Amino acid sequence: MGALRPPRPDLADMSAYDAREPSVDINLAANENPSNLPHELLATMAQRLPTFPFNRYPDPMASQLRAQIAEANGLDPANVLVGNGGDELIFDLMLAWGGPGRTLLNLPPTFAMYEIDARLTGTTIAEVPRREKDFTVDERAVFERLALGDIDIVMISHPNNPTGNIAPETFLIDVLKATDALVLVDEAYFEFSRHTMRPHMERHPNLVILRTFSKAFSLAGLRVGYLLAHEDVVMELTKVRQPYSVDRFSQWAAGLVFRERVVFESQIQELLRQRDVIEHGLSQIPGVKVFRSEANFVLFRVDRAAAVWRDLLHSHSILVRDLSRVPGLEDCLRVSIGSMAENSAFLKAMEHLMTERRASDMFGTTSRDELDSAVGESGPLD
Ligand code: PMP
Repeated sequence: MGALRPPRPDLADMSAYDAREPSVDINLAANENPSNLPHELLATMAQRLPTFPFNRYPDPMASQLRAQIAEANGLDPANVLVGNGGDELIFDLMLAWGGPGRTLLNLPPTFAMYEIDARLTGTTIAEVPRREKDFTVDERAVFERLALGDIDIVMISHPNNPTGNIAPETFLIDVLKATDALVLVDEAYFEFSRHTMRPHMERHPNLVILRTFSKAFSLAGLRVGYLLAHEDVVMELTKVRQPYSVDRFSQWAAGLVFRERVVFESQIQELLRQRDVIEHGLSQIPGVKVFRSEANFVLFRVDRAAAVWRDLLHSHSILVRDLSRVPGLEDCLRVSIGSMAENSAFLKAMEHLMTERRASDMFGTTSRDELDSAVGESGPLD
Protein backbone atom coordinates (compact mmCIF):
# COMPACT_ATOMS: atom_id res chain seq x y z
CA MET A 1 0.00 0.00 0.00
CA GLY A 2 1.30 3.47 -0.83
CA ALA A 3 1.75 6.20 1.71
CA LEU A 4 0.75 9.83 1.61
CA ARG A 5 2.47 12.54 3.57
CA PRO A 6 -0.13 14.93 4.98
CA PRO A 7 -0.49 18.46 3.56
CA ARG A 8 0.07 21.67 5.56
CA PRO A 9 -1.49 21.10 8.99
CA ASP A 10 -3.34 24.43 8.91
CA LEU A 11 -5.52 23.15 6.06
CA ALA A 12 -7.10 20.64 8.44
CA ASP A 13 -9.74 23.05 9.70
CA MET A 14 -10.51 24.57 6.31
CA SER A 15 -13.05 23.14 3.92
CA ALA A 16 -13.20 23.17 0.14
CA TYR A 17 -15.49 25.48 -1.73
CA ASP A 18 -18.39 23.24 -2.59
CA ALA A 19 -19.06 24.13 -6.20
CA ARG A 20 -22.06 21.78 -6.48
CA GLU A 21 -24.87 23.78 -7.95
CA PRO A 22 -28.21 22.28 -7.09
CA SER A 23 -30.14 22.27 -10.34
CA VAL A 24 -33.01 24.64 -9.72
CA ASP A 25 -35.52 26.53 -11.83
CA ILE A 26 -34.54 29.90 -10.41
CA ASN A 27 -31.00 30.59 -9.20
CA LEU A 28 -30.79 33.80 -7.18
CA ALA A 29 -27.74 32.78 -5.17
CA ALA A 30 -24.61 34.14 -6.86
CA ASN A 31 -25.30 37.82 -7.73
CA GLU A 32 -24.99 37.04 -11.42
CA ASN A 33 -26.68 38.95 -14.20
CA PRO A 34 -29.92 37.04 -14.95
CA SER A 35 -29.43 37.63 -18.71
CA ASN A 36 -26.80 36.16 -20.95
CA LEU A 37 -24.84 38.53 -23.21
CA PRO A 38 -26.90 40.56 -25.67
CA HIS A 39 -27.53 38.75 -28.94
CA GLU A 40 -25.35 41.07 -31.06
CA LEU A 41 -22.32 40.31 -28.89
CA LEU A 42 -22.94 36.56 -29.01
CA ALA A 43 -23.19 36.78 -32.79
CA THR A 44 -19.88 38.67 -33.02
CA MET A 45 -18.26 35.99 -30.87
CA ALA A 46 -19.65 33.20 -33.01
CA GLN A 47 -18.27 34.87 -36.11
CA ARG A 48 -14.80 35.18 -34.60
CA LEU A 49 -14.56 31.61 -33.30
CA PRO A 50 -13.45 29.71 -36.44
CA THR A 51 -10.31 31.82 -36.87
CA PHE A 52 -9.53 32.34 -33.19
CA PRO A 53 -5.92 31.24 -32.37
CA PHE A 54 -6.70 28.87 -29.49
CA ASN A 55 -3.32 27.17 -30.04
CA ARG A 56 -1.41 30.27 -28.91
CA TYR A 57 -0.71 31.30 -25.33
CA PRO A 58 -2.48 34.45 -24.23
CA ASP A 59 -0.80 37.82 -23.75
CA PRO A 60 0.26 37.57 -20.05
CA MET A 61 -0.71 41.17 -19.26
CA ALA A 62 -3.83 41.32 -21.46
CA SER A 63 -2.37 44.46 -23.06
CA GLN A 64 -5.31 45.38 -25.27
CA LEU A 65 -7.95 45.00 -22.58
CA ARG A 66 -5.64 46.71 -20.10
CA ALA A 67 -5.25 49.72 -22.42
CA GLN A 68 -9.02 49.95 -22.93
CA ILE A 69 -9.70 49.87 -19.18
CA ALA A 70 -6.94 52.38 -18.50
CA GLU A 71 -8.28 54.82 -21.05
CA ALA A 72 -11.86 54.58 -19.78
CA ASN A 73 -10.62 55.38 -16.28
CA GLY A 74 -8.24 58.17 -17.26
CA LEU A 75 -5.21 56.11 -16.24
CA ASP A 76 -2.06 54.67 -17.71
CA PRO A 77 -2.01 50.93 -18.59
CA ALA A 78 0.65 50.58 -15.87
CA ASN A 79 -2.12 51.32 -13.34
CA VAL A 80 -4.28 48.38 -14.46
CA LEU A 81 -4.02 44.65 -13.81
CA VAL A 82 -6.43 42.13 -15.32
CA GLY A 83 -7.08 38.87 -13.48
CA ASN A 84 -8.99 35.60 -13.65
CA GLY A 85 -11.99 37.14 -11.95
CA GLY A 86 -11.70 39.56 -9.08
CA ASP A 87 -11.09 36.51 -6.91
CA GLU A 88 -7.64 35.94 -8.39
CA LEU A 89 -6.66 39.56 -7.85
CA ILE A 90 -7.73 39.43 -4.21
CA PHE A 91 -5.54 36.36 -3.80
CA ASP A 92 -2.62 38.11 -5.54
CA LEU A 93 -3.00 41.11 -3.22
CA MET A 94 -2.90 38.81 -0.22
CA LEU A 95 0.14 36.96 -1.59
CA ALA A 96 2.03 40.23 -2.03
CA TRP A 97 0.86 42.30 0.95
CA GLY A 98 -0.14 39.51 3.35
CA GLY A 99 1.74 36.38 4.35
CA PRO A 100 3.28 35.10 7.59
CA GLY A 101 3.95 37.88 10.08
CA ARG A 102 1.63 40.29 8.26
CA THR A 103 -1.90 41.42 9.12
CA LEU A 104 -5.17 41.97 7.26
CA LEU A 105 -7.78 44.31 8.70
CA ASN A 106 -11.18 42.81 7.86
CA LEU A 107 -14.66 44.25 8.52
CA PRO A 108 -16.97 41.25 8.87
CA PRO A 109 -19.57 40.20 7.95
CA THR A 110 -18.18 40.73 4.45
CA PHE A 111 -17.03 38.90 1.33
CA ALA A 112 -15.81 35.49 2.50
CA MET A 113 -12.77 35.33 0.20
CA TYR A 114 -10.86 38.00 2.15
CA GLU A 115 -10.67 35.76 5.20
CA ILE A 116 -10.13 32.57 3.21
CA ASP A 117 -7.22 34.06 1.24
CA ALA A 118 -5.72 35.46 4.42
CA ARG A 119 -5.79 32.02 6.00
CA LEU A 120 -4.36 30.36 2.89
CA THR A 121 -1.44 32.77 2.84
CA GLY A 122 -0.77 32.56 6.59
CA THR A 123 -1.82 36.18 7.09
CA THR A 124 -2.97 37.23 10.56
CA ILE A 125 -6.53 38.54 10.59
CA ALA A 126 -7.56 41.55 12.69
CA GLU A 127 -11.30 42.13 12.75
CA VAL A 128 -13.46 45.15 13.42
CA PRO A 129 -16.99 43.72 13.19
CA ARG A 130 -19.74 45.82 11.63
CA ARG A 131 -22.61 46.99 13.82
CA GLU A 132 -25.20 44.28 14.27
CA LYS A 133 -28.26 46.39 13.65
CA ASP A 134 -27.41 47.92 10.26
CA PHE A 135 -23.94 46.63 9.30
CA THR A 136 -22.40 50.09 9.32
CA VAL A 137 -18.68 50.21 10.06
CA ASP A 138 -17.54 51.07 13.57
CA GLU A 139 -15.29 53.86 12.31
CA ARG A 140 -13.73 54.72 15.64
CA ALA A 141 -12.73 51.12 16.21
CA VAL A 142 -11.15 51.01 12.74
CA PHE A 143 -9.01 54.09 13.40
CA GLU A 144 -8.02 52.78 16.83
CA ARG A 145 -6.95 49.50 15.25
CA LEU A 146 -5.02 51.25 12.46
CA ALA A 147 -3.27 53.44 15.04
CA LEU A 148 -1.50 50.36 16.43
CA GLY A 149 0.55 50.49 13.23
CA ASP A 150 0.68 46.78 12.43
CA ILE A 151 -1.90 46.55 9.64
CA ASP A 152 -0.44 45.70 6.22
CA ILE A 153 -3.61 45.44 4.15
CA VAL A 154 -7.24 46.50 4.57
CA MET A 155 -10.10 45.04 2.52
CA ILE A 156 -13.40 46.90 2.23
CA SER A 157 -16.22 45.61 0.06
CA HIS A 158 -18.00 48.67 -1.32
CA PRO A 159 -20.94 48.04 -1.51
CA ASN A 160 -20.44 45.34 1.07
CA ASN A 161 -21.32 41.80 0.00
CA PRO A 162 -23.54 40.38 1.48
CA THR A 163 -25.07 43.28 3.45
CA GLY A 164 -25.44 45.67 0.47
CA ASN A 165 -24.55 48.94 2.22
CA ILE A 166 -21.75 51.37 1.37
CA ALA A 167 -19.53 53.22 3.81
CA PRO A 168 -19.38 57.03 3.60
CA GLU A 169 -16.75 58.29 1.18
CA THR A 170 -15.28 60.52 3.91
CA PHE A 171 -14.60 57.40 5.99
CA LEU A 172 -12.76 55.71 3.12
CA ILE A 173 -10.66 58.82 2.54
CA ASP A 174 -9.82 59.01 6.24
CA VAL A 175 -8.74 55.37 6.19
CA LEU A 176 -6.42 56.08 3.26
CA LYS A 177 -4.95 59.00 5.20
CA ALA A 178 -4.67 57.14 8.49
CA THR A 179 -2.52 54.28 7.25
CA ASP A 180 0.20 53.34 4.81
CA ALA A 181 -1.33 49.87 4.53
CA LEU A 182 -2.63 48.86 1.13
CA VAL A 183 -6.38 49.59 1.12
CA LEU A 184 -8.52 47.54 -1.24
CA VAL A 185 -11.85 49.17 -2.02
CA ASP A 186 -13.68 46.32 -3.70
CA GLU A 187 -16.07 47.85 -6.24
CA ALA A 188 -17.34 44.54 -7.66
CA TYR A 189 -20.85 46.08 -7.66
CA PHE A 190 -19.78 49.52 -8.91
CA GLU A 191 -22.06 49.44 -11.97
CA PHE A 192 -25.03 49.23 -9.59
CA SER A 193 -23.89 51.55 -6.80
CA ARG A 194 -22.26 54.08 -9.14
CA HIS A 195 -19.95 55.01 -6.34
CA THR A 196 -16.21 54.87 -6.98
CA MET A 197 -13.05 55.93 -5.21
CA ARG A 198 -11.32 56.49 -8.58
CA PRO A 199 -11.04 60.31 -8.03
CA HIS A 200 -8.86 59.67 -4.98
CA MET A 201 -6.23 57.48 -6.61
CA GLU A 202 -3.74 60.22 -7.48
CA ARG A 203 -3.58 61.48 -3.91
CA HIS A 204 -3.42 58.05 -2.29
CA PRO A 205 -0.84 55.56 -3.61
CA ASN A 206 -2.15 52.99 -1.11
CA LEU A 207 -5.59 52.81 -2.76
CA VAL A 208 -6.49 49.77 -4.86
CA ILE A 209 -9.85 49.53 -6.62
CA LEU A 210 -11.24 46.18 -7.75
CA ARG A 211 -13.91 45.66 -10.42
CA THR A 212 -15.32 42.67 -12.26
CA PHE A 213 -17.00 41.63 -15.49
CA SER A 214 -18.99 38.99 -13.57
CA LYS A 215 -21.95 41.05 -12.41
CA ALA A 216 -23.30 43.88 -14.58
CA PHE A 217 -21.49 42.62 -17.69
CA SER A 218 -22.86 39.05 -17.73
CA LEU A 219 -19.44 37.39 -17.89
CA ALA A 220 -19.30 35.38 -14.64
CA GLY A 221 -18.72 32.26 -16.74
CA LEU A 222 -15.52 33.59 -18.33
CA ARG A 223 -13.76 34.90 -15.22
CA VAL A 224 -12.39 38.38 -15.83
CA GLY A 225 -11.77 41.10 -13.26
CA TYR A 226 -9.40 44.04 -13.01
CA LEU A 227 -7.83 46.34 -10.52
CA LEU A 228 -6.76 49.96 -10.64
CA ALA A 229 -3.73 50.88 -8.54
CA HIS A 230 -0.50 52.80 -8.32
CA GLU A 231 1.98 51.41 -10.85
CA ASP A 232 4.34 50.23 -8.10
CA VAL A 233 1.51 48.13 -6.65
CA VAL A 234 0.77 46.61 -10.06
CA MET A 235 4.48 45.90 -10.50
CA GLU A 236 4.64 43.99 -7.20
CA LEU A 237 1.54 42.01 -8.10
CA THR A 238 3.08 40.90 -11.38
CA LYS A 239 5.70 39.07 -9.30
CA VAL A 240 3.16 36.84 -7.58
CA ARG A 241 0.51 36.36 -10.27
CA GLN A 242 0.13 33.37 -12.57
CA PRO A 243 1.42 34.62 -15.92
CA TYR A 244 -1.29 33.13 -18.14
CA SER A 245 -4.23 33.29 -15.77
CA VAL A 246 -6.56 35.14 -18.14
CA ASP A 247 -7.05 33.06 -21.26
CA ARG A 248 -6.89 34.47 -24.75
CA PHE A 249 -10.58 34.09 -25.48
CA SER A 250 -11.65 35.75 -22.22
CA GLN A 251 -9.34 38.70 -22.89
CA TRP A 252 -10.84 39.15 -26.32
CA ALA A 253 -14.47 38.67 -25.19
CA ALA A 254 -14.06 41.03 -22.24
CA GLY A 255 -12.56 43.59 -24.62
CA LEU A 256 -15.60 43.31 -26.84
CA VAL A 257 -17.99 43.62 -23.90
CA PHE A 258 -16.09 46.58 -22.48
CA ARG A 259 -16.11 48.41 -25.81
CA GLU A 260 -19.86 47.87 -26.14
CA ARG A 261 -20.67 48.41 -22.47
CA VAL A 262 -23.34 51.05 -23.06
CA VAL A 263 -25.63 48.25 -24.27
CA PHE A 264 -25.82 47.03 -20.65
CA GLU A 265 -27.07 50.35 -19.34
CA SER A 266 -30.81 49.80 -19.76
CA GLN A 267 -30.48 46.34 -18.22
CA ILE A 268 -28.67 47.77 -15.20
CA GLN A 269 -31.45 50.34 -14.76
CA GLU A 270 -34.04 47.57 -14.97
CA LEU A 271 -32.16 45.52 -12.34
CA LEU A 272 -32.18 48.56 -10.05
CA ARG A 273 -35.93 48.94 -10.54
CA GLN A 274 -36.32 45.24 -9.80
CA ARG A 275 -34.26 45.68 -6.66
CA ASP A 276 -36.84 48.21 -5.46
CA VAL A 277 -39.58 45.71 -6.25
CA ILE A 278 -37.87 43.03 -4.16
CA GLU A 279 -37.06 45.40 -1.28
CA HIS A 280 -40.61 46.68 -1.22
CA GLY A 281 -42.22 43.24 -1.69
CA LEU A 282 -40.16 41.64 1.08
CA SER A 283 -40.78 44.53 3.47
CA GLN A 284 -44.53 43.96 3.09
CA ILE A 285 -44.28 40.39 4.38
CA PRO A 286 -44.82 40.16 8.15
CA GLY A 287 -41.77 38.73 9.89
CA VAL A 288 -39.25 39.81 7.25
CA LYS A 289 -36.69 42.54 7.86
CA VAL A 290 -35.04 43.97 4.74
CA PHE A 291 -31.68 45.75 4.58
CA ARG A 292 -31.37 48.50 1.97
CA SER A 293 -28.90 47.61 -0.77
CA GLU A 294 -26.75 49.53 -3.24
CA ALA A 295 -25.95 46.39 -5.24
CA ASN A 296 -27.75 43.70 -7.27
CA PHE A 297 -28.74 41.66 -4.22
CA VAL A 298 -30.78 42.15 -1.07
CA LEU A 299 -30.11 40.80 2.41
CA PHE A 300 -33.07 40.00 4.63
CA ARG A 301 -33.63 38.54 8.05
CA VAL A 302 -36.38 36.12 8.92
CA ASP A 303 -36.96 33.80 11.86
CA ARG A 304 -35.71 30.26 11.24
CA ALA A 305 -34.02 31.41 8.02
CA ALA A 306 -32.45 28.01 7.28
CA ALA A 307 -35.95 26.52 7.10
CA VAL A 308 -37.11 29.29 4.77
CA TRP A 309 -34.07 28.62 2.58
CA ARG A 310 -34.93 24.92 2.51
CA ASP A 311 -38.60 25.56 1.66
CA LEU A 312 -37.70 27.95 -1.15
CA LEU A 313 -35.45 25.28 -2.61
CA HIS A 314 -37.55 22.15 -2.11
CA SER A 315 -41.08 23.51 -2.56
CA HIS A 316 -40.41 26.26 -5.12
CA SER A 317 -37.09 25.31 -6.80
CA ILE A 318 -35.66 28.72 -5.92
CA LEU A 319 -32.08 28.98 -4.67
CA VAL A 320 -30.98 31.94 -2.55
CA ARG A 321 -27.87 32.28 -0.36
CA ASP A 322 -28.13 30.94 3.16
CA LEU A 323 -25.96 33.08 5.43
CA SER A 324 -27.67 32.10 8.65
CA ARG A 325 -24.59 30.41 10.07
CA VAL A 326 -22.23 33.30 9.38
CA PRO A 327 -21.36 35.20 12.57
CA GLY A 328 -23.32 38.48 12.62
CA LEU A 329 -25.76 37.24 9.95
CA GLU A 330 -27.87 34.93 12.09
CA ASP A 331 -31.21 34.29 10.37
CA CYS A 332 -30.13 36.13 7.22
CA LEU A 333 -30.65 35.13 3.60
CA ARG A 334 -29.44 36.96 0.51
CA VAL A 335 -31.37 37.09 -2.74
CA SER A 336 -29.80 38.21 -6.02
CA ILE A 337 -31.90 40.37 -8.30
CA GLY A 338 -33.10 38.22 -11.19
CA SER A 339 -35.42 38.81 -14.11
CA MET A 340 -38.86 40.30 -13.50
CA ALA A 341 -40.46 36.84 -13.72
CA GLU A 342 -37.90 35.28 -11.34
CA ASN A 343 -38.28 38.06 -8.80
CA SER A 344 -42.02 37.85 -8.83
CA ALA A 345 -41.87 34.04 -8.43
CA PHE A 346 -39.53 34.56 -5.49
CA LEU A 347 -41.80 37.11 -3.81
CA LYS A 348 -44.84 34.90 -4.35
CA ALA A 349 -43.03 31.92 -2.85
CA MET A 350 -41.98 34.00 0.15
CA GLU A 351 -45.50 35.25 0.74
CA HIS A 352 -46.84 31.73 0.38
CA LEU A 353 -44.43 30.09 2.77
CA MET A 354 -44.66 32.84 5.36
CA THR A 355 -48.46 32.63 5.29
CA GLU A 356 -48.28 28.86 5.67
CA ARG A 357 -45.85 29.25 8.51
CA ARG A 358 -48.10 31.67 10.37
CA ALA A 359 -50.98 29.22 10.02
CA SER A 360 -48.97 26.22 11.22
CA ASP A 361 -47.41 28.21 14.07
CA MET A 362 -50.91 29.22 15.14
CA PHE A 363 -52.13 25.63 15.16
CA GLY A 364 -48.87 24.23 16.41
CA THR A 365 -48.54 21.71 13.56
CA THR A 366 -44.87 22.28 12.74
CA SER A 367 -42.13 21.80 15.26
CA ARG A 368 -39.20 24.16 15.23
CA ASP A 369 -36.73 21.27 15.20
CA GLU A 370 -38.31 19.83 12.11
CA LEU A 371 -38.05 23.14 10.28
CA ASP A 372 -34.45 23.63 11.29
CA SER A 373 -33.32 20.13 10.42
CA ALA A 374 -32.35 20.62 6.78
CA VAL A 375 -29.51 23.06 7.30
CA GLY A 376 -26.11 22.68 5.73
CA GLU A 377 -26.83 22.49 2.03
CA SER A 378 -25.79 25.88 0.81
CA GLY A 379 -22.19 27.01 0.38
CA PRO A 380 -20.78 30.03 2.17
CA LEU A 381 -19.16 31.89 -0.74
CA ASP A 382 -19.83 34.70 -3.23
N1 PMP B 1 -15.64 41.00 -4.61
C1 PMP B 1 -16.88 40.87 -4.17
C2 PMP B 1 -17.36 41.74 -3.07
C3 PMP B 1 -17.73 39.90 -4.73
O1 PMP B 1 -18.96 39.75 -4.26
C4 PMP B 1 -17.23 39.08 -5.77
C5 PMP B 1 -18.08 38.03 -6.43
N2 PMP B 1 -18.86 37.27 -5.63
C6 PMP B 1 -15.91 39.26 -6.19
C7 PMP B 1 -15.15 40.25 -5.59
C8 PMP B 1 -15.24 38.43 -7.23
O2 PMP B 1 -15.95 38.24 -8.38
P1 PMP B 1 -15.31 37.54 -9.61
O3 PMP B 1 -14.20 36.64 -9.15
O4 PMP B 1 -16.41 36.80 -10.27
O5 PMP B 1 -14.78 38.67 -10.47
